[in-house]
Amino acid sequence: MTTRIHNFNAGPAALPLEVLQEAQAELLNFNDTGMSILEISHRSKAYEEVNAEAEATMKELLGLGDDYRVLFLQGGASLQFAMIPMNFLTPGKTADYILSGSWSEKALKEAKLIGQTHVAATTAEENYKRIPSLSEIQLSSNPAYVHITSNNTIFGTQWAEFPTFGDIPLMTDMSSDILCRPFDASKFALIYAGAQKNLGPSGVTVVIIRKDLLENNPKTIPTMLRYETHAKNDSLYNTPPSFGVYMISRVLRWIKANGGLAGIGEHNTAKAKLIYDAIDQSGGYYRGHAEPGSRSIMNITFRLPNEDLEKAFAAEAAKAGLGGLKGHRSVGGLRASVYNAMTREGCQALRDFMLEFQRKNG
Ligand SMILES: *Cc1c(COP(=O)(O)O)cnc(C)c1O
Repeated sequence: MTTRIHNFNAGPAALPLEVLQEAQAELLNFNDTGMSILEISHRSKAYEEVNAEAEATMKELLGLGDDYRVLFLQGGASLQFAMIPMNFLTPGKTADYILSGSWSEKALKEAKLIGQTHVAATTAEENYKRIPSLSEIQLSSNPAYVHITSNNTIFGTQWAEFPTFGDIPLMTDMSSDILCRPFDASKFALIYAGAQKNLGPSGVTVVIIRKDLLENNPKTIPTMLRYETHAKNDSLYNTPPSFGVYMISRVLRWIKANGGLAGIGEHNTAKAKLIYDAIDQSGGYYRGHAEPGSRSIMNITFRLPNEDLEKAFAAEAAKAGLGGLKGHRSVGGLRASVYNAMTREGCQALRDFMLEFQRKNG
């Protein structure tokens, strides 16, 4: 392969070319230190600036003020599945989970190890082809928090509008759609995301947490697993995933330069429309997994008339420079992950390929 492909990988996923080029250009000598960002102390001024900029730009893009902190942690979104109940699921309370896919199931599984849980709504019986409607949600009598998965990476569904439950803290796994569109971040007490889909490389997890949640947590939790520890130390309690945080700071600059969440949201909506239109206008040749009202603008899942055609589609697409389209086994078929860094040209190329494939094999 002599050129870059259109990369539809689900995660780790494509990063903006401009950011990769910037990282390449300053890899050997970061900010006149005479060293790579990979080689400097996390206690140095140069790194502290990167860390502070990443937090400040994240809050700026989300429109959040002094009542929130942004933490850069390790252990992936999967460790957040456990850290959330460890820190907030106290005796006498129930943790309420809305199940909309495999990742929410995994989050619930960890909470069950810690305390009492409740499934407030689920669309499991429909193979998660839609997000539960607001009228289906039934909370427990004393929830510590409500947990949702904003975008279901595997099934290709996404909350169109977020619910609120008064004073009950709302927490969300935004691993696969953080910063993909404008939304009211202040509705959430906690937002977390593994970086490797929409923010940067794997190895760093972003946690956006409302400050009042940092008080009154059980003191029996190991130090590294307390949000309070990381907030007090500006994510520098121990050696942070410094290269990952650096990459995030550059991706955040890139989002800002591209119109912030409003600009990126328009870009993503137009991109997704190209592919959904190809599905809807195929006369049933391509069938979307997600119900139209629950469709994700980040992960587009679809099937072909049979599995042989699906295999041929993925293989021929790869030859044409469209990579990573094979779907997840729980849905089958194809999945196009079109995160922020996926270009409009990439989506156009996929749409053209879909039309051509149907013309030849339909
Ligand atoms: C990828 C993904 C995860 C898992 O993230 P890790 O960082 O690998 O732990 C969790 N939730 C969602 C929604 C994801 O897309």
